[in-house]
Amino acid sequence: MPSVALLGATGSIGTQTLDVLRAHRDEFTLVALAGGQRLAELAATVNEFSVPAVAVRHEADATTIRGLVPTSTEILVGPAGLEELAGRADICVNAVVGFAGLSATLGALRAGRRLALANKESLVAAAPVVERVRQGQVIYPIDSEHSAIFQCLGESGRDDGYREVSRIILTASGGPFRTWPREDLQRITREQALRHPTWAMGAKITIDSSTLMNKGLEVLEASALFGIELDRVDVVVHPQSIVHSMVEYIDGATLAQLSEPDMRLPIAVSLGAPHRLAGGFGRMDFSKNVELTFEAPRWDDFPALRLAYDAGRRGHGAPTWLSAANEIAVEAFLDDRLAWCDIVPVVAATLDSYDDQELVTEADVWAADAAARDIARRVVAR
Ligand code: NAD
Ligand code: MG
Repeated sequence: MPSVALLGATGSIGTQTLDVLRAHRDEFTLVALAGGQRLAELAATVNEFSVPAVAVRHEADATTIRGLVPTSTEILVGPAGLEELAGRADICVNAVVGFAGLSATLGALRAGRRLALANKESLVAAAPVVERVRQGQVIYPIDSEHSAIFQCLGESGRDDGYREVSRIILTASGGPFRTWPREDLQRITREQALRHPTWAMGAKITIDSSTLMNKGLEVLEASALFGIELDRVDVVVHPQSIVHSMVEYIDGATLAQLSEPDMRLPIAVSLGAPHRLAGGFGRMDFSKNVELTFEAPRWDDFPALRLAYDAGRRGHGAPTWLSAANEIAVEAFLDDRLAWCDIVPVVAATLDSYDDQELVTEADVWAADAAARDIARRVVAR
């Protein structure tokens, strides 16, 4: 029975992964957990699944959780704890949010474990280092678009750089402001931005979806995951979130994966591949009228998308800076220190200070992330 380490266990992806594991109790065993907040929930999961090891963020959290779990439970702390647990199970589900997920991504790959990856920020921020560390290992995406692409690509073509694929077409819901007139984008509230039309997700990715930065990060994620150049990655807006993405082949055929928006399906795919787990999360009902529409993104009104392509083309540390500055700007918006319409300009202004920074080691990535955060904080404050 494959063992699973679930890192970021208390979040949106984390709790949906627990749902999948509950539905497949005889097929997987949960051997490690990690979480950054909600320690009571984390402890409850340790107890429910009799998990022998758990990682928390700070020493103080370790003291708190110590009182809530059996004395035999091993408790680890910080990035080193994440990295250690990521390498301990057959499958590492990285459901941490933000750059903090880097230790889990690298920990799983260094140990040669299956990486089931929701944490796109680590891949975007550290692509050249991940590429070196993974040594050809497949990464199993949880992000719904990338799971769709993974399913449409199948196993063939990896070794020749997917020569027969002409392009990958990522679908985007367009977020809550897809149809808003440009003038109205100037006065968006926190509450409006947190209301996603088709998905219920953590706060950071919900805001990223409203600015289309999420799609920008996903373009870079797709290129890094599959080793496909940015020129072969396109974006189309599809408000229903039923077609999760598409792959167009050189003969003109387009393959798509369809399901109701339910993250438990891509989670199950990442755990079970190459096999399918029985369960039917997201199954379609075509007896209802299913409407599928597609439209071009509003590039000028949602500049995050172009900014992400540009950062990807610059390469090296530019995507690291993009992602780090975005984290700072989104955090400031959620704290009411920044207007919604200033999130992407903060990222752009931070990137203006970026001076080519090569990423060879993990330490280079941490340094680039720290440098970008420092500048982004100053940009937010001015
Ligand atoms: P979330 O905020 O709901 O959960 C994040 C989890 O990470 C929580 O368990 C939190 O405690 C934990 N965490 C944060 N910092 C940590 C640290 N330093 N150490 C240990 N744990 C830490 O976020 P989410 O919506 O579940 O998203 C998680 C990741 O999955 C993100 O990268 C997101 O982009 C990606 N993703 C999410 C969805 C979705 O539907 N929610 C879809 C696609 C991709
Ligand atoms: Mg996605």
